[in-house]
Amino acid sequence: MNKRKSGFMLPLTFIVIMAIIFGFNMSNTPCRQNGHTWAAATCTMAKHCSVCGETSGEPNTNNHKWEDATCTTPKTCVRCQQTYGEPLSSTKEHTWEAATCFSPQKCSVCGATTGTKLAHEYSSKGICSLCGETKPYGNSYGYFDESELYAMAKDAIKDFCYPTYVNNFCSSANIKIEKVTDDRLGYGKNCFSVVAAADFSSGGTVTTKGFVAVIEPHTSTTYAFVDAYVE
Ligand SMILES: [Zn+2]
Ligand SMILES: [Zn+2]
Ligand SMILES: [Zn+2]
Ligand SMILES: [Zn+2]
Repeated sequence: MNKRKSGFMLPLTFIVIMAIIFGFNMSNTPCRQNGHTWAAATCTMAKHCSVCGETSGEPNTNNHKWEDATCTTPKTCVRCQQTYGEPLSSTKEHTWEAATCFSPQKCSVCGATTGTKLAHEYSSKGICSLCGETKPYGNSYGYFDESELYAMAKDAIKDFCYPTYVNNFCSSANIKIEKVTDDRLGYGKNCFSVVAAADFSSGGTVTTKGFVAVIEPHTSTTYAFVDAYVE
């Protein structure tokens, strides 16, 4: 009985010892071969090896990581929360500037923000009454941004075969429909691109853009919208 037991225990002990040695060597191999990778002491942590975690000496109470003061909080160490000085505002209140179409309410003293920016309020001419920004695309059908162009093209082409909508939207003389052979679209050989070189005006200037709707055969007489972009 004893003999059988020790015959079992001996290999097991050997395996455990090997596992400990192997594990020990694995965890220390980088530092044993290359030396420790020391990171400087901070206000909360002694000099330490970023690879194996070994430490040396004491924390450095002068090595803080300061975050600037705001109107409501003094300069503060993000590691140990120690503070220095006073908040920027004696009343601890921000000096808010009104929100615009491009920025939420912003403190002119410390730069803090609150709330959300305003939504543009476009007139029928596609001009924002708040900031004066104009939508980038306009013609006799109205004024549009790029996502609106896409949405309208998608709606129009989805239910219909020939892209009458694009026909209406642009001057028909400028529309070409061609089978896509260009692999950059990645839609395979049965796709078509509708290329309309339309004149879109923006803020009084006229720019010519190619409006490309990618459609694919749906039935023998209809097509389905796949994608659209302005080039
Ligand atoms: Zn180390
Ligand atoms: Zn600190
Ligand atoms: Zn402030
Ligand atoms: Zn605006």
